[in-house]
Amino acid sequence: MLKIEPQNLRTPGPTPIPDDIVEAMGTPMINHRGPEFDELIKKCTAQLKQVFMTDNDLFILTASGTGALEAALVNTLSPGDKVVAATAGSFGDRFIDMAEAFGADLTRLDFEWGEPIDPDAIRQSLRDDPEIKAVMVTHNETSTGVTHPLEEIARIAKQEFNKLLLVDAVSSLGCLPLPVDAWDCDLVGTASQKGFMIPPGLAFISVSDRAWEAQKTASMPRFYFDLEEAKRTLERGQTPFTPNVPPCTG
Ligand code: PLP
Repeated sequence: MLKIEPQNLRTPGPTPIPDDIVEAMGTPMINHRGPEFDELIKKCTAQLKQVFMTDNDLFILTASGTGALEAALVNTLSPGDKVVAATAGSFGDRFIDMAEAFGADLTRLDFEWGEPIDPDAIRQSLRDDPEIKAVMVTHNETSTGVTHPLEEIARIAKQEFNKLLLVDAVSSLGCLPLPVDAWDCDLVGTASQKGFMIPPGLAFISVSDRAWEAQKTASMPRFYFDLEEAKRTLERGQTPFTPNVPPCTG
């Protein structure tokens, strides 16, 4: 067996895992279609809603954070939909690449790496093109260490223009203030290996009523990340596919 010595891990994620979590993850495997899993996933989902500060639906996906971001896109948008996205780093760029891969029509706002996004530029784009349906933003740009002004961007996207708001919160949720309901963020995706201090392999996403409304007509291709299926199976205490159970027990 590969022997790995304890490390003083100083990456932005995966973060070190506390000893009691390592221990809890060593519990015997359970049947993911059985009553213990039903109890586990419902409890974890309820507790995650507290961390997200939301009453919206919330799903635990077996994926890295990118899975949650893909789920946000493909469940609410259609090819050709106009979207405005601001970026000032590699994760902002990747979110845009993903949206383009699924056929979104991007208005791309590039800012200098190391600088925050200017919310006024988003406001201007929304003024210039009333057909824009959604705003995409990375809350904390891990590649530069800069936190973007999400609260203000959300106010513009939601209160001023009433658009759908998709947030990459992979390195912010649990680390920075992000009250999902108070800021009215429609889709917020994050991952287990950063602020939550559990291993990689779980992604978490919150989904507002407005996002479900968009989902009814969204036609981007989806299968593994179909949130309607996730909702249906969660009601009976399960996930559509085999879940990554140990980090849940942790
Ligand atoms: N977005 C941000 C801001 C990130 O920091 C990361 C990972 O570091 C990702 C997206 C991608 O997440 P993952 O590697 O879990 O898919």
